[in-house]
Amino acid sequence: MRLLSRSIHLAAAVLSVLACTRIPAQQNPDWTTPLTPFRIAPNLYYVGSRDLASYLITTPAGDILINSNLASSPPQIRHSVEQLGFHFSDIKILLISHAHFDHAAGSAAILQQTHARYMVMDADVSTIETGGRTDFAHFTTFPPTRVDRILHDGSTVQLGGITLTAHKTAGHTPGCTTWTMQVIEDGKPLNVVIVGSVTALSEYRLVATPGHPASYPGIAQDFAHTFDVLNALPCDIFLSSHGSYFDLLSKLARMKAEGSSVWIDSAGYKRAIAQSRVDFEADLARQQTAAAHLHS
Ligand SMILES: [Zn+2]
Repeated sequence: MRLLSRSIHLAAAVLSVLACTRIPAQQNPDWTTPLTPFRIAPNLYYVGSRDLASYLITTPAGDILINSNLASSPPQIRHSVEQLGFHFSDIKILLISHAHFDHAAGSAAILQQTHARYMVMDADVSTIETGGRTDFAHFTTFPPTRVDRILHDGSTVQLGGITLTAHKTAGHTPGCTTWTMQVIEDGKPLNVVIVGSVTALSEYRLVATPGHPASYPGIAQDFAHTFDVLNALPCDIFLSSHGSYFDLLSKLARMKAEGSSVWIDSAGYKRAIAQSRVDFEADLARQQTAAAHLHS
């Protein structure tokens, strides 16, 4: 009887997963390929996969994890944390870069295992708490997860002497968050910037046309403001939610010979932001031209 009810539960779980999950047609294999975890700077470690970045910040009062990644990622992240000699249960606070399934779907499992507090930027809270069902792009859904603290632009997260600042860098999602903190390396303070994302995906509507509203009201203005915010942030250590955005793999290959100074890349940060702005402005111009043709 117990076996039967268990298999009924299992079947229901499988069905609900099948019903709610739109698996992306081509998922980058680097999203699920493990990477040996490593130290980026004092108290700051990389515990993600070859492309989906996850960061562990350790403090004497417990640890902070940024990004839970895919629903399948928590065992990989946990293994990485333990390989570094830390305890998964020491994670007291869970943060994300933005409310998409490739950065936040693992949150439910991680919260269950760690009892951490989940802190999310205001405009992404509904997407997180509905498991992606209110996301304007209707991406792959994930387990709905309760948020313990709602963050706002400029909110700080403090634990054991470490302060992280949440910068709302909206556009990619309405509550997309860029995290900053300072680390002291060899007595020198270094500014860390973890870019949330600045990509306008191909299906995003930056311009409203009759009968076709923008992806969300103000999306184009949000992106433009985000580039201004990012340009103004002092950056020594350049990181992001995807490794490819800050050349993770090539920098990691150089780290063996050059040490952790490979992560100091303020020129690379400026270049990446400038290139993303050019890409965004080209997309915007293309959509504005198409909208103008509709009117003529
Ligand atoms: Zn995303």
